[in-house]
Amino acid sequence: MKKGVIGLQYRIETYGASVLREKAKPVERVDDDVRRLVSDMLETMYAGNGLGLAAEQVGRTEAICVIDDSPSRDPEDPDKTGSDPQVDMPLVMINPVIEEMAGEHTAEEGCLSFPDIFVPVPRAWEVIVRYRTPDDMEQTIRAHGLLSRAIQHEVDHLNGVLLVDQMSQIQKIAIAGKLKRLKKASRERG
Ligand code: ZN
Repeated sequence: MKKGVIGLQYRIETYGASVLREKAKPVERVDDDVRRLVSDMLETMYAGNGLGLAAEQVGRTEAICVIDDSPSRDPEDPDKTGSDPQVDMPLVMINPVIEEMAGEHTAEEGCLSFPDIFVPVPRAWEVIVRYRTPDDMEQTIRAHGLLSRAIQHEVDHLNGVLLVDQMSQIQKIAIAGKLKRLKKASRERG
């Protein structure tokens, strides 16, 4: 589905939008406003068929991200998709902090803010991440593979770091035309 779908509270900000470069502010109180934002973010992520979404991508700066890797899970090959089966989806993380990283793994990565762009990105194979839940509980989980990759990608967003920053010079040159068009479109949307 495209952005601007009727009924959606937010459109997805794409590369070139200045809010994507902002650092998220920690959420001080997990209240109904925060839970409403979370539910709008989930709706936007599912409408865009995304694996994850961070607040900046809907023009907000609360330190919140959402992930749902269930469509990518493969019970026959848990290591390929690499999700931690103990983690219920969707995963909503408020004020996430990555406490530990281990190993390395390179795989193709995409982003709703970079439509139609996929590049191989090296990430830590495993992470331990601490966050608050929408019920205002402190939670720590260990994730590997795809889920670990998604968590690192979303936490990057909350720090104003984008997929393009993870690309090599050669990758950037290869998709320079696409990046330029994205920036132009984003400027025209205002
Ligand atoms: Zn992204």
